[in-house]
Amino acid sequence: MAGQGAAATTVLVEKNVNGEIIAKTCSICDEYKELEDFARDKRGFVGRAADCKACAKAIKDRWEAIGRADLEALYAEGLSEDEIAERYNVATTTVIVRRNQCGLNDPNATQVRLADRKHRRPW
Ligand SMILES: [Zn+2]
Repeated sequence: MAGQGAAATTVLVEKNVNGEIIAKTCSICDEYKELEDFARDKRGFVGRAADCKACAKAIKDRWEAIGRADLEALYAEGLSEDEIAERYNVATTTVIVRRNQCGLNDPNATQVRLADRKHRRPW
């Protein structure tokens, strides 16, 4: 995944006849959605989160699934990060970030975390 370069995060908007923004694209699924489909976020563009509620929930669910996983036991079984990622339907970087949060050996924690945030797609 590393080396893909930063994807441009272009937000497309739809306006009504009064020029008010009524819909925008989600930064993850790229679909046009009404503003109500985005959580409120004061710092966000037009006061809304960049990710739609459905995408945000999908991310949360996957994080929770991998968060509940007993990584130490999985590593003890001899599973690699790629295999664990496959089992939990997440990106390998997500497993690495999670491992770092668990305090399990971590030479590149900061680097991985930054890369993950930049790409905003942990799988
Ligand atoms: Zn979305």
